[in-house]
Amino acid sequence: MRIRIDEIPRKGLSVEFTDDEELLAQALAATSLPPGVQIDPRLTGRFTIARRKGELFFEAAIDAAMRLQCSRCLTEFRQPERVDIDLVVRQRTSPEQDMNAEFVDSEAEAFFIDGDVIDPGEIILQELLLNVPMKPLCKEDCPGLCPTCGRPKGSPQCTCSEERRVDPRWAALERLKEKITP
Ligand SMILES: [Zn+2]
Ligand SMILES: [Zn+2]
Repeated sequence: MRIRIDEIPRKGLSVEFTDDEELLAQALAATSLPPGVQIDPRLTGRFTIARRKGELFFEAAIDAAMRLQCSRCLTEFRQPERVDIDLVVRQRTSPEQDMNAEFVDSEAEAFFIDGDVIDPGEIILQELLLNVPMKPLCKEDCPGLCPTCGRPKGSPQCTCSEERRVDPRWAALERLKEKITP
């Protein structure tokens, strides 16, 4: 979705959407995602572009989702994401001016655009990608891969018995225990 700055009404622009696939489409096509990361293009929520004191503000509250690969068991899983955005949108001018702008208003985070077109999808996608965890986990206590068969531990595909999963470092101790026990 592309919005020309000079087409934004003085009172601002507010858009609500449900399961919308258009919003992210262009941004997704133009962005190479990190490996193992997929973004669900369906977005639900709202965004507002407001004009205040000669500045453009982009605010959004959006429910999104991504598909990630678990860093322990390599299983793909869906992770819902709530994105709340509150940014000043500024046109990129010269590098010095950008520096000054950030210096003047250091409290508000700025999103810089080239030219005079805002793509809300681009802002939302960037914010979503900031939420991608360094080490995604399918669940907090994911047991990882079975050292015997290499499949996710505890999954139906792993039929190794608990016994065989005993850490080799403990195996000697186990044998000792067997000897001691009458
Ligand atoms: Zn996992
Ligand atoms: Zn196994």
